[in-house]
Amino acid sequence: MWAKFPGGFKRLKTGGAGGGTAYISTTMRIVHDKELCANHGQCVGAAPELFKFAENGSLIVIDPNPPEELREAAQDAVDVCPVQALAIVED
Ligand code: SF4
Repeated sequence: MWAKFPGGFKRLKTGGAGGGTAYISTTMRIVHDKELCANHGQCVGAAPELFKFAENGSLIVIDPNPPEELREAAQDAVDVCPVQALAIVED
């Protein structure tokens, strides 16, 4: 089950014998479409703690599963990408 929270969507898992115990488990994952990426670097400027360029010029996602405190930076990078090569998904 998915639920919308102020920071985004979170998956709710149920546990316990009766399935009545609810707890939240979510992991943010950054998805980078290398086919779409034009290596212009806007994401690096928006979130240098999450993206950098390799020596060959290709983009590297430093931490594909960043902590929650980097969500805003990750979202900024998604928003500035001119070709929509980045997305945040919740696992
Ligand atoms: S902003 Fe988008 S196109 Fe540019 S390097 Fe980042 S992911 Fe690639």
